[in-house]
Amino acid sequence: MTDQTSPTNDVRLRTTLAGVPAYKAGKPAAPRTDVTTYKISSNENPYPPLPSVLKVVQDAATSINRYPDMAVSGLTHRLAETLDVPVEHLATGTGSVGVLGQLLQITCEPGDEVVYAWRSFEAYPIVVALAGATSVQVPLTADARHDLDAMADAITDKTRLVIVCTPNNPTGPAVHADELDAFLAKVPSDVLVVIDEAYLEFGRDDAAPVALDLYRAHANVAVLRTFSKAYGLAGLRVGYCVAQAPVAEALRKAAVPFGVNALAQEAAIASLDAYDELAERVDALVAERVRVLAALREQGWPVPDSEANFVWLPLGDDTVAFAEAADAAGLVVRPFAGEGCRCTIAETEANDRLIEVAAAFRNR
Ligand SMILES: *Cc1c(COP(=O)(O)O)cnc(C)c1O
Repeated sequence: MTDQTSPTNDVRLRTTLAGVPAYKAGKPAAPRTDVTTYKISSNENPYPPLPSVLKVVQDAATSINRYPDMAVSGLTHRLAETLDVPVEHLATGTGSVGVLGQLLQITCEPGDEVVYAWRSFEAYPIVVALAGATSVQVPLTADARHDLDAMADAITDKTRLVIVCTPNNPTGPAVHADELDAFLAKVPSDVLVVIDEAYLEFGRDDAAPVALDLYRAHANVAVLRTFSKAYGLAGLRVGYCVAQAPVAEALRKAAVPFGVNALAQEAAIASLDAYDELAERVDALVAERVRVLAALREQGWPVPDSEANFVWLPLGDDTVAFAEAADAAGLVVRPFAGEGCRCTIAETEANDRLIEVAAAFRNR
């Protein structure tokens, strides 16, 4: 389209949109001739799809002229069996971010409050603002962990939802079972607590909670999971929530009809079938995380513990300069200006280069 002048636009949009921050997706690493570039900004799984998973996706692709199974029955039954929960307690969505949007829709009227830690997952303020609800962000502790006491204190009559991100994106630590128990004892029973376990499979902290036990014990606890990270299906968009029947049923009502496509449904089932193979990859990524974290600490970086597939460099005012230095070396990290950089654990070469860039930056 050339030289087309836009007509005057009087369309009235919701006023709440002005307060909705835009999601900053990790930018792709631009290819270069001198070095292999790596995108370590989106916490993706660096391994390609398993052949068995690719096969079912290819097979399912022959039927894309048809709508998918709207009830997502195959995957839901498979999950119910794997997790040992009733099928009625499951709801799926287009990634766990999709399910998060459904969680907002079922809990919040405009003006209601959602309590979560900050800094945490970037999608939280967006889904909350889109729902017309109000974010109540509770600062992390000095060691980049959830301050669950302060979060409990932040709950008011208007609070409808609390999100606990464990391990926390972008800082890394998991909450501990004892502190989460104490927290849940203080949350009113009519406030839903969502435990976002996007990185569950990467956790090795014995003190971490067993969220599914908490959902079994508390009618107001919901567990949010995804196939995007450990299962390596970020591009197919499938996540799910485990919650007691009234909550799960409401979530299914709020789902985009046919949102979870057939390729995603089949790939998720195949990934559950192949979990032993995927777990080996997760173990290798965890070993790399341990290696990178130790190397960075050895260099003097105050890196918080990480139970996920990324590490957090608390760079403060040097954040943007570090991201530029990484970029120059062919690594795209995720900067949060004034706070720090989140760096995904990826291919060994990318991890080695991150260690090198961090060393050079400290000695600059
Ligand atoms: C990556 C991530 C998700 C998963 O998002 P999908 O929509 O399932 O791809 C959810 N929560 C957190 C905290 C994440 O970092």
